[in-house]
Amino acid sequence: MMAGAQPQVECSFCGKSQHQVWWLFASNNGVYICEECVGVAQDILTTAPPDAEDRSNGVPRVRCSFCAKSWDDSVRLIDTQLNPAYICNECIDRCRQIMDQKALSAARVPGWLNG
Ligand SMILES: [Zn+2]
Ligand SMILES: [Zn+2]
Repeated sequence: MMAGAQPQVECSFCGKSQHQVWWLFASNNGVYICEECVGVAQDILTTAPPDAEDRSNGVPRVRCSFCAKSWDDSVRLIDTQLNPAYICNECIDRCRQIMDQKALSAARVPGWLNG
């Protein structure tokens, strides 16, 4: 009965629509991330040492699109080529925890990170 009532949403990081992914986590400001991009971000966070990131030269003052934390010594941000959107390591962890806790029977129902 709600069919068609909701606008189509897509991952802000890879552009896949809600119909192409199992999970889309939403921020408060219209940024979404799918489970595949959560995995990609985890890979980046675990394989790329923080020291490899140059934070001193030409780094814009960006914030996590999900929790609004700014990029500092304790927060690492993953960016996207598609949109001016960022997600931090803490939000990646939260997404992973939510996915681990919920069965895939909830698949294709967006998992809202906030709210
Ligand atoms: Zn994605
Ligand atoms: Zn965050």
